[in-house]
Parts: sequence; C-alpha cells; structure tokens
Amino acid sequence: MTYADLMTAYGEVHDLRMAGAVLEWDQQTQMPPNGASARGRQLATISGLAHEKFTSPAFRDLLAEVRGREDLSRDQRLAVGELDFHLQRAIKLPGSLVREMALTESRAFQAWMEARQAKDYSLFAPSLGRILELVRRKADCFGWEETPWNALVPDFERGMDAAAIRDLFEPMKKSTLSLLDRIRGAEQVGTGFLDRTWDPAIQGEFGRRVLRDLGYDFNAGRIDTAAHPFCTNFSIGDVRITTRYTMANPMESLMGLIHEAGHALYEQGFDPGDEGTPLAGAPSLGLHESQSRFWEVRIGRSLPFWEHYLPLMKQYFPGALTGVDPAMMYRALNKVEPGFIRVDADEVTYNLHIIIRFELELMLLDGRLSVADLPEAWNGMYRDLLGLDVPHDGVGCLQDIHWSGGAFGYFPSYTIGNIFNAMFIGRMEADMPSFWEDVRAGRFAPLLEWLRREIHRNGSRDLAAPLIERITGQPLSVEPLAAHLNEKYAEIYNL
Ligand code: ZN
Repeated sequence: MTYADLMTAYGEVHDLRMAGAVLEWDQQTQMPPNGASARGRQLATISGLAHEKFTSPAFRDLLAEVRGREDLSRDQRLAVGELDFHLQRAIKLPGSLVREMALTESRAFQAWMEARQAKDYSLFAPSLGRILELVRRKADCFGWEETPWNALVPDFERGMDAAAIRDLFEPMKKSTLSLLDRIRGAEQVGTGFLDRTWDPAIQGEFGRRVLRDLGYDFNAGRIDTAAHPFCTNFSIGDVRITTRYTMANPMESLMGLIHEAGHALYEQGFDPGDEGTPLAGAPSLGLHESQSRFWEVRIGRSLPFWEHYLPLMKQYFPGALTGVDPAMMYRALNKVEPGFIRVDADEVTYNLHIIIRFELELMLLDGRLSVADLPEAWNGMYRDLLGLDVPHDGVGCLQDIHWSGGAFGYFPSYTIGNIFNAMFIGRMEADMPSFWEDVRAGRFAPLLEWLRREIHRNGSRDLAAPLIERITGQPLSVEPLAAHLNEKYAEIYNL
C-alpha cells in the first residue's frame, strides 16, 4: 500500500466531513426553521459515517503500513504524522462515550439557551454537571498529568499545557490590570458621532469593498448573513464567511467582517498542492485567531487604516460623518471600557475575560470548584479583575456557548492568538519598512504576501508556537503584546 492509497482513503473521510460542513453552513444561512430536525439527523449520519471510516480497522492498518514506509518525502511523513495524531485520539474514545457526549451536548445546548434566556443558572447546572463528568471521562481515556484539563487542550493548542499557559497569562494579567488602572483615571473617549441609523445594505457594500481590498477572493468565497458571524471552508477554493448588520452601529458588522475575513484569508492561502490532505489546515486555533485578530484589531482598528478608509466611508454614507476625522474614528474604535460580555470587549480588557474562564475551567475540572458554586466564583473574579458587579447570570457565567458543547480547553486560544500576532507583527515591520505606509495607502497585498509566505502556506507542517518562534527568532512571550497595549493606549488616553 502506498501513500497515494492512504490519501485516497482519507479523501473519502475528508469529503464526508466537508459535505457535513456545507449542510451546517446551509443550516445557519438558508434553511427554513422546519428543516431543523431532519437536518440534525442528516448531520449525525454524515459525521457518524466519517468517524466510522476514519477509525475502521482497514484505515488503521493502511495508516500503520504507510507510516512504516521508508520512501516517504518530508511532506508525506508530516501528513501521515498529522493523520496519526488525530486517529490515535479518536480511537482512544469508545464509541459509547462519543455517542453519549453528542446526546448530552445537544440537550445541554437546549438547557443553556433556556437558562440564558431566563437568566436562571439552575436550569443549566444539572447539564453542566453531566458534561463535566463526561469531559473528565474523556480526559481519562486520553490519559493526563497534573490536571485532566491537560488532556483536552491538544484539541485546540497542541504542544501546550496548563502550566505553560499560566506562565503566559500571569504576566499578561498583571500588565493589563496596571494599564486598566491608569486608563480609569484618564479622560474618556467619545463615540457619540456613531449614534445614528446606518443602512444595512450600504454597510454590506462598504464591507465588501474593504474585504476585496484586503485580498479576500470572492471567486473562492462568499458573504452571507447569519445570527452568529463565522467562517467555514469546504476546500481552499470555497471559503465562506457570514456577518450580521446592526442598524445602530456599523462598526460591529465591519469589524466582524474583517475578523472573519482574517480567518478566510488564512484558509484561502493554504498551499493549493496540499488540497484535501491534512497539511491544508491550521496547527492550532490560536494561530487561526492570530490571523483574524491581526486584520481586525491591528489593521482595522489602526489610525493609518482610517486615514485611508474614512474618506471612502463618507462617500458610502453621505452626510453621516461630517466633521469626523480619522483620529476621532481611531479613538472611538479603541475605547476601553470594562464590560460583562466577552465578545463585546475591547482589546485591553478582552484577555481578562479569557484569563477568568481559564482559571474557572481548571478549577471545575480539578474538582476545586463545584458546579453549584460556579456563579459565585465567576462573579467574584469579575469584581476583582474588572471591577464589575454581575447583575445576573445571563451576562455572567451563562453568556458563552462553549461549555455546553463540552469545549473545555478552548478559551485560552483567543488570547494566545493575540500573543502570537503581537510577536509576528514585530518581524513584519522589520521585514517591510513600508508596512504602515502601505496600510495608509490601502495597499494590503504586501502584508498578505508576507503572511502567505511565512504562515499560511506552511499549513499544519509546524506546531504553532515553534512556527512563531522560528519566524520571529524569539521565544514565546507576552512581552510584545503587553508593550503594544501599553504604547497604543498611553497615546490614546494621554497616560
Ligand atoms: Zn475568530
């Protein structure tokens, strides 16, 4: 059996998964409500088939045989290694546990939605207890050291564990709290000029214009509206994004679009030669997030970006931004304000939301915190770190979907993405002296080309942290992110 035989067999698994992704995309963008129950069944059938094929004795034998071959190229060896990693994890979980998790998660999702709506944690607590029990069993199947949490994190950040993440988060927390303290004492930023009605159709046109400029390829993607913005891909040639439009604030949609486009530019930028192989993928969620946050926060919320786009936005919305200059827009887009909701958080406080969730997850999994005591612990941390009194659990521990889906270990990737991009931007600026001039001129091709060369085309050949260390020549550190935040917000708030 050859490498080509293995890829043909894997291709069927991959095709089934991608067909499932199309059905999911359709469910969130096009499907009428009455299609829901049949769609749930269709998705379960397809993912079941993909799982069966992937973990079948035939596929396992084939993989083992090809793995032992000595005539594999470096890329082939890496692709086989990647498949082996995922297969080894998949076969450690008994089918009965996988099915029980799927069932429990779909019930927990319903309970979570009701509980959040009713602002009543007691409606979700029993489900969370069952989810935790199953997640611990899953961790035991994988095997773990120090904490069961360490068995879960490789699904999101391979090569990291709780101790390594805490080493990054502790200095991040300290530096953020001290910056936040100084911002609290400063004169606050005005955003009043955004308070008006913004036509969603024009928001859409302007957003498409910006995305085209950034390099998003509409021949290899499309934009649709959905309740929750996301990016999905079915192949390198079909990477779709969704957005939603808020009449009262055009920046929510625009920044959301740029964020998802950042994910999409990464997916559109994999090496075409890797299509359909496990090499056309991101090695970690954090690295994926580093791409979306690069375009959204570091470019889209920068002053040079608005020096270019404010005049254009004024053409799209005649009369709406009279008297507004790029500096006003820049300051408004970077207003710092501690709030209850993670997804609405500014660049400075965002990482505190993540650090809180990371600590609580560890305590829940280690058994240091009971499910019943979660709201109290959550609210206490929001009081300590953000200075806020959580009024009810709907804007507290019930706000995120992740735990209802058993996704423990996921949250740190958001902050790790910010840490990664702060590191590689230093390298980009050094490699490209015209970096900010290009942004000011709306010329993004050189930036995208750098990302394609250094990160995108690499696919999953390297793990994320070693890749970033190789590109930057520096060990992984929060220092560049902390320095960026201190410098940027000292300037905005005259600290
Ligand atoms: Zn994202």
